[in-house]
Amino acid sequence: MDEPRHCSATRRDGSPCAAPPSAVDAATGFCWAHSPDKREARRAARAKGGRGKATAARAEKLLPSHMRPVLAAVFAALRDVRSGAIAPAQASAIASLAGAAVKVYQAGLLEERIAALEQAGAVAIAPQEGQGRT
Ligand SMILES: [Zn+2]
Repeated sequence: MDEPRHCSATRRDGSPCAAPPSAVDAATGFCWAHSPDKREARRAARAKGGRGKATAARAEKLLPSHMRPVLAAVFAALRDVRSGAIAPAQASAIASLAGAAVKVYQAGLLEERIAALEQAGAVAIAPQEGQGRT
């Protein structure tokens, strides 16, 4: 298995691109923002007033690792629909499936947090002797 690589580009300030390996196209070794063959797509996105790059980078950082493939699929669909490789209807289907995956994930997360709160509550109700604050 190939080691996932970070984007090989360098930012304007000289630091390496922070795009995670999941956002990097294995064929080019660059993230979408730095891929030379995405130049036209980026120009089009900018022309459309998109702040997609920064938003995508932020979203990627906030995302739990097992949800990254979902984001990667959405980005791939975005790229493919732009290039004409897939039909807009296919991209819509991918987007709604990704939305469904996120909802299931969120429900699971909520469940987990409620369970943790309940557990914490049970501990707070019966503190161990000598450990309570006065
Ligand atoms: Zn990059």
